[in-house]
Amino acid sequence: MPTSVMWFRTDLRLLDHPALQAAIASGPDGVVPLFVLDDTFWESGARARQAYVARLLQEFSERIGGLHVVHGDPGVEVARIARSVGATTVHVSADFTPYGAERDFAVEEALASHDITLERTGSPYAVSPGRVVKGDGTGYRVFTPFFRAWQQHGWPGPAEPTAEVSWIRPDGRTHRIPDAAAPDGLELPPVGEEAALERWQDFLDADVADYDTIRDLPGPDRTSRMSVHLACGSIHPRTMLADLAPLRSAGSEAYGRELAFREFYADVLHHRPDSAFGYYNRTFEAMAYDEPGDGLDAWKAGQTGIPIVDAGMRQLLGEGWIHNRVRMIVASFLVKDLHVEWQHGAQHFLDLLVDADLASNQHGWQWVAGSGTDASPYFRVFNPMTQGNKFDPDGQYVRRWVPELADVPARHVHTPWELADPPSGYPAPIVDHAEERREALRRYDAIRP
Ligand code: FAD
Repeated sequence: MPTSVMWFRTDLRLLDHPALQAAIASGPDGVVPLFVLDDTFWESGARARQAYVARLLQEFSERIGGLHVVHGDPGVEVARIARSVGATTVHVSADFTPYGAERDFAVEEALASHDITLERTGSPYAVSPGRVVKGDGTGYRVFTPFFRAWQQHGWPGPAEPTAEVSWIRPDGRTHRIPDAAAPDGLELPPVGEEAALERWQDFLDADVADYDTIRDLPGPDRTSRMSVHLACGSIHPRTMLADLAPLRSAGSEAYGRELAFREFYADVLHHRPDSAFGYYNRTFEAMAYDEPGDGLDAWKAGQTGIPIVDAGMRQLLGEGWIHNRVRMIVASFLVKDLHVEWQHGAQHFLDLLVDADLASNQHGWQWVAGSGTDASPYFRVFNPMTQGNKFDPDGQYVRRWVPELADVPARHVHTPWELADPPSGYPAPIVDHAEERREALRRYDAIRP
């Protein structure tokens, strides 16, 4: 009886799923839909993402009439399940995160000792990390040439729609899907493949045409919000790229470029797994930082007295998501105004972002901190007031998240302390930006080659 195992990880969907197609092809008599609860994820402190994944697992399990959920060491559990149904192949989408890749090598070895093969088909990317390389075989360090090479490399179209799957479940009890609650006050976005496709279609219908001009404005809130669906694999980026291709507008092209950024950072992390928590540009290891203290706490609570920073940090607490422009502003404030090392901020983001993605997050932070790939030069310090006035000119975004400033006129909404009678209940700025900018540059001068 040819059966197979489909070990789902960050790919809980049925459409455009090359690994599932392969599992069906090698298991005409049935495919086990397996999910392993791995403590490395469930104890990692990514609370928003865990709560989201718990709901997603529930939704997916109901959809297919029961996911076979086990708990424990994947190296042991995957082999046990495969043997119990006589499967000779376990199918996965390749995982390129440092932990995931290492885990899969260990599982592959454990399976091999039972003559079972781990077959990797596809990945969560249009072009898998490691495929786009420079002439000398090394990875790209700068986005623009990567982007050109990535486009030239190309990718196949979406996989055929999934045929009817004959799911089988091994004997034995399955584990309960964890009841992971979202952090207090955080409202999770909709889960699942249907929600992802619906959100994507709405974005294509209403917003992609203007994406190039509105993507930097947090007030109108018209970016796609697809990051959570991409991070959890409810949609494959190739599906999105195939929908974008015929549009040929400035908006659709700008959107494709952003998807390439996600692929670039995954590629960079693949070549430099140490850059997940260490400095990509090691010169910055010598930079002087302050011990995190009250400033970090005020930043986390959205109580710094700098409106656009507080709005962003409160959006994180309320939605588990922040607009990209504002992610850059709040990150810059932590690193260059409060002089706190980027890893503290990155860890807080990983804890609260529903779209937490190791590659995009750590490299987004390193870009801001000046230590990443084609990083914004360290000396270009974001001025949060100038950024606010430029990208949230009428204060629409700030007012949404900082109700204390709801009635402040637009010309003071990013500098409420300049009012003769500042609004009560909103803190005064915890730092003087001009002074901290000078301090950041002093520290940079000390390490500059
Ligand atoms: P859209 O503007 O609609 O963009 C479409 C898609 O393109 C996104 O869903 C995302 O997959 C990709 N994308 C867009 N901008 C970037 C970028 N700068 N880097 C990589 N991919 C991008 N993105 C995450 O998915 N997870 C993270 O943990 C994460 N952490 C970040 C931390 C910092 C400090 C910074 C500056 C950026 C971070 N980003 C992260 C990138 C970006 O902010 C989000 O992808 C984006 O805001 C998600 O919203 P959206 O789907 O509406 O984006």
